[in-house]
Amino acid sequence: LELSLLHASKLEAVGRLTGGIAHDFNNMLGIVIGNLDLLQRALPPDEKVSRRIEHALDGAQRCAELTSRLLTFSRRSPLQPKLLEFATFMPGLVKLLERTLGERVSVTLTMDAGIPPVRVDHAQLEAALINLAVNARDAMPEGGRLDLSVRARNDAASEGARVPFVEIAVTDTGTGMPPSVLARVFEPFFTTKEAGKGTGLGLSMVYGFVQQSGGTIAIDSVPDQGTTITVALPAFVGEATGLSDRPAPSAGHAV
Ligand code: ADP
Repeated sequence: LELSLLHASKLEAVGRLTGGIAHDFNNMLGIVIGNLDLLQRALPPDEKVSRRIEHALDGAQRCAELTSRLLTFSRRSPLQPKLLEFATFMPGLVKLLERTLGERVSVTLTMDAGIPPVRVDHAQLEAALINLAVNARDAMPEGGRLDLSVRARNDAASEGARVPFVEIAVTDTGTGMPPSVLARVFEPFFTTKEAGKGTGLGLSMVYGFVQQSGGTIAIDSVPDQGTTITVALPAFVGEATGLSDRPAPSAGHAV
């Protein structure tokens, strides 16, 4: 799936709308949480009413988590980009995924030598890749393979791009997606999972983060065979080009 311009501008509009709402909502939540917190501190510890306040705080915290994901989708979450070396980042991620995904999923990593660094928010990239991996696991209820591959892209595919990209591909041997699902996966709250299992915010977050980082995301999916999701991030080109420490610009409209 390479998003068409129409599709991308629809997501853009949804992003602006949800971003505006999430932003205001977040401010009001701040007031709710702040006041509940004050109330709780003012009460003696084993007052009955403080259990109620605890519940209210829990609910408000969950709302805060939801709005923070929506803010990521609409590219309004603050990023802390730092130089990232794949040779150290990926093995740590693989260990984490092996622990998280359970025994039925075997994780492999293929990485070329000499991958250039990227300049991104490390925690957000990790969260994005964990999201992709958890979706992959969910698509393989009987177990299967999860392959991570990292390579530099410097070929005709990046034509028009002034800088090389690093591609991180996440491939699973799961159920794949029909075109009707594929067309909607980046929409916030779109999920095919049963109630309570999915929020429909995972890929929306990943989409927003990748866009905000100047990258692109593409999906290849074949029903009953599996899915590959490829995140391309601009390589860090260093001082010599004059771009120094700023993230490289995004290439064209592919998302
Ligand atoms: P959630 O995981 O909460 O449903 P996402 O935005 O992460 O939300 O995903 C949206 C939908 O995209 C999923 O419900 C699923 O139908 C589909 N999907 C995402 N990743 C995969 C995958 N690797 N294989 C098959 N379907 C997927």
